[in-house]
Amino acid sequence: MNSATNSLQKKVFELLDQQNREWELAARNYKGLEKVEKHFFEFDGGVKIGVQFNPERIYSSAAKVDDKSISERKCFLCHAHLPAEQIWVEFNDNYLVLVNPFPIFPKHLTIPHRRHIDQCIMEHFPEMLNLARELDEFVVFYNGPRCGASAPDHFHFQAGNKGFMPVEQEFYQVSKTLLRNENGCKAQSTENYLRHCIILEGNDKSMLSQWFQEIFGLMEKLMQQEPEPMMNVLCLWENEEWKIFIFPRKLHRPWQFFSEDENRILLSPASVDMGGVLITPRREDFEKLSASDILDIFTQVTWEKDLFEKLIEEFSKD
Ligand SMILES: [Zn+2]
Repeated sequence: MNSATNSLQKKVFELLDQQNREWELAARNYKGLEKVEKHFFEFDGGVKIGVQFNPERIYSSAAKVDDKSISERKCFLCHAHLPAEQIWVEFNDNYLVLVNPFPIFPKHLTIPHRRHIDQCIMEHFPEMLNLARELDEFVVFYNGPRCGASAPDHFHFQAGNKGFMPVEQEFYQVSKTLLRNENGCKAQSTENYLRHCIILEGNDKSMLSQWFQEIFGLMEKLMQQEPEPMMNVLCLWENEEWKIFIFPRKLHRPWQFFSEDENRILLSPASVDMGGVLITPRREDFEKLSASDILDIFTQVTWEKDLFEKLIEEFSKD
C-alpha cells in the first residue's frame, strides 16, 4: 500500500462513519441491511449465486431509464442536487466519493464524475484502475448506460466492500482459458460460469488499458449497441495487481421483469448480480426464484456462447 492508498481509503471509512451517524436516511438503510435476508444456490463446479432480499433497492431496480424519464428528472448525482446531509471525499480533480444511501454492501459507495457527462466507460477506464488501487478493500464497478446504471446520463462508478461477491473467490477456482500472456499480464475467459466473462490481471496499467480498449472494439464490432457495447465491469486490486472482470451483456432486463402475471420477477441485473449476488426488492421474488430461473435470466441478459467464442477467438489471435 502506498500513502495515497491509505489516505483516500481512510477518508472514505471516516465518511462512512460520519454519514451513518449524521444522515438519517443512510443510517436507517445501513442498519436495515443487517437484517436483510440472503440465501445461496450452488451450481455445477461449485459456482455460487446469492440472492439478497433488499426492499430499499426497489427504486434502483425499477428505475425508469428511458431517455424521456431521464430528461425529466433532476439528476441525483449532480453536485447541485445532492441532499443537504450528503458530504463527500474527493478523488483526484474529477470525482466525488459518496456514501450510497440505498446500500447492497455494508460499505457501498457511489463515485460520480464532477461533471454531468454521459455514462461511457472507455476514456475513464484508467481512472477505474487508479480508484481500485487506492480503495483496495473495495471492488470498484461500472454499469453500462443500458445495463444497470440508474443515472445513464451522469458518469459514475460504484464500489462495495470486498468479501461480498462470490466472483472474488471463484476467480481462483473456476476453469479458465488463457487468451493472452504478456509482460506479466494475463487475459483469460471463464468456462461453465453461467455467464461469460473475460478476466484481465496484471499490474501494467497501460497494457491492461490497451487490452480493454481492444475488447471494447471487438464487442462493438460483434454486437452493435448504442451508445457503447453493453457491459458490466468489476475491478479490484489484490496482491499488487489488478483483476478486471468484463461481463458482456445483450439485454438489460429479462422478460420476467415486464410480465404482468404471476411470472413477474422484479430483477434488473447489473454488476453485483454478475458478481454473483442477485438483488430482489420484492419478497415474493426472493422466495420463488429458483435455480432454473437464475440460469434462464443469465442466458437472456448475457452473450450467447457462439458470439462470446468469436470475441475470445478474435482477441486471442491479435
Ligand atoms: Zn448529473
